[in-house]
Amino acid sequence: MKKLEQLYEGKAKKVFKTDDENCYIVEYKDDATAGNGAKKGTILGKGVVNNRVTNHLMKMLEQNGIPTHLVEEINDRETIVKKVTIVPLEVIVRNVAAGSLAKRLGMEEGTVLKSTVLEYCYKDDDLGDPMVNEYHIAALGCATPDELKQIADYSFKINKLLGDYLKDAGIELIDFKLEFGRDVNGKIILADEISPDTCRFWDSKTHAHLDKDLFRRDLGGAEEAYKEVLSRLLGK
Ligand code: UDP
Repeated sequence: MKKLEQLYEGKAKKVFKTDDENCYIVEYKDDATAGNGAKKGTILGKGVVNNRVTNHLMKMLEQNGIPTHLVEEINDRETIVKKVTIVPLEVIVRNVAAGSLAKRLGMEEGTVLKSTVLEYCYKDDDLGDPMVNEYHIAALGCATPDELKQIADYSFKINKLLGDYLKDAGIELIDFKLEFGRDVNGKIILADEISPDTCRFWDSKTHAHLDKDLFRRDLGGAEEAYKEVLSRLLGK
């Protein structure tokens, strides 16, 4: 497949057109941002880890009945994906209190939630991705009620599949963010990435962060932690 002109450059990835009108190529960068772009930096090797971890996890999800945009990994940083129109929502799934939820609800980080929490944020950088509910989503026209039900069903199923899978690698799945898109047939499929940039991964035993919080909070060791996730999941 031929890589054609760049369509879009985001904070962590570039998207290119290809000679197949139903496919794009995504390229993962080492650029890191936090706080809606307020903090900028680089995590060396991050693009490689996120590309390979995302593809590995999406393959596992596909095998378990979750449709994803993954087509084929081309190399360390580039992957062919199905063309989708992104549903402008960040879907956040939480098992343990951390980050913005811990702050907002006055809970200590690490408190196990009595039940899984699903949150939606409206994807709009200028507005700082505000949290929205089902009514806002319908009012904004982001997704139909049927689409949102499908998104919620997939998200809970993904939480169970990912949580079980990561447990075997000694990783506790604290919370994570998903994005969905509509494929060329209008079907809802999982898109974007599943990586240490978009998930909170804690070491099961020590509770050490193995994710972007190391960068967000200037804790150090992000490069090593990302590589650790890659090696625990792919064995290299
Ligand atoms: N998250 C993300 N992109 C965002 C916001 C959050 O990938 O723009 C992920 C984040 O890595 C974490 C989860 O969603 O795994 C919940 O994040 P939270 O709302 O606690 O926000 P934060 O504390 O990261 O600002």
